[in-house]
Amino acid sequence: MDTELAVIGAGAAGYTAAIYAGRAGIDAIVFDTGMGGGLSTWAPRIENYPGFPDISGVDLMDRMKEHAEPYADFHYNEEVTAIEPDGDGFKVTTAKNTYTAGAIIIATGTTPRQLDVPGENKLRGRGVSYCATCDGSFFTDKKVAVVGGGNSAVNEAIYLHGLGCNVTLIHRRDQLRAEEALAQEVDKKDIPVIWNTVVEEIRGDPVVETLALKNRKTGETTQQAFDGVFISVGETPQSSLATSLGIETDSHGYIQTDERQRTTVNGVYAAGDVTGDIRQIITACAEGATAALTSMHTLGKSYPF
Ligand code: NAP
Repeated sequence: MDTELAVIGAGAAGYTAAIYAGRAGIDAIVFDTGMGGGLSTWAPRIENYPGFPDISGVDLMDRMKEHAEPYADFHYNEEVTAIEPDGDGFKVTTAKNTYTAGAIIIATGTTPRQLDVPGENKLRGRGVSYCATCDGSFFTDKKVAVVGGGNSAVNEAIYLHGLGCNVTLIHRRDQLRAEEALAQEVDKKDIPVIWNTVVEEIRGDPVVETLALKNRKTGETTQQAFDGVFISVGETPQSSLATSLGIETDSHGYIQTDERQRTTVNGVYAAGDVTGDIRQIITACAEGATAALTSMHTLGKSYPF
């Protein structure tokens, strides 16, 4: 085998799996399509990760990266394109090479969900963004909308407000899904919310100029001028490597695991947001640790469970 364990994805789950694998004497390679950190690096603010009452996503993930790197061999910018059974283990094909591994941890996370409305793709990068931390500073003193009502949307709105943007939240229902403490901050900061409203089209040429909005209760349609729109309407699991191996997912595509992070294929584990359920950094870390330690069974190593 080229490696005992292949970890796919260097986000919170993948970094923690690497730390626990290394500490347990497991030889591991961690693959990532980019430079690591995952979607957490897009979070302007992470509150209550134990030991860090308030830290930016980039800072927390940089710390995890620095902590994890001595424990495994990190292959950044190397996308895994296929995993296949191979003898007692697996063949991992990447854009650069093929590797054999005794066990696999899939920690591929999620991608931001799109609104799927006209104008969204055309104006992506021209006022349409999925990441306030990445693009917010271009919109200081400008009028921006944040679409969504969950924790991410509210955090993005608060962050953009802090950058001096003129922010409006647009939410499809009459109540935020975000935690109460975050919802209260929206009130305190006087961030206006357009309730019961969906975006039907994003218009502008060559950049965003207006949003076509529809009130779901009254059916009324309006056009409102905005310089930018931050879309924060949830996530889609990146589980195609798992499904091509025949691993079971739920109806939304999240990988099904047991309490030890085993998937329905022996020797393959999954950890972090790609497994759905409670999607928090702390649970992703816990799942990464559990998957790494449980993989010792597959690898014929003893661990005193
Ligand atoms: P989320 O909780 O799934 O919220 C998605 C929001 O987008 C919901 O308000 C939803 O509306 C809305 N939405 C979905 N599809 C839409 C569409 N087509 N058009 C308009 N609105 C649409 O997603 P998230 O905020 O990205 O959070 C993802 C996970 O990360 C959650 O588990 C969350 O708790 C966690 N998270 C935690 C923190 C934290 O501080 N602890 C921070 C960020 C994220 P409805 O409300 O009507 O469904």
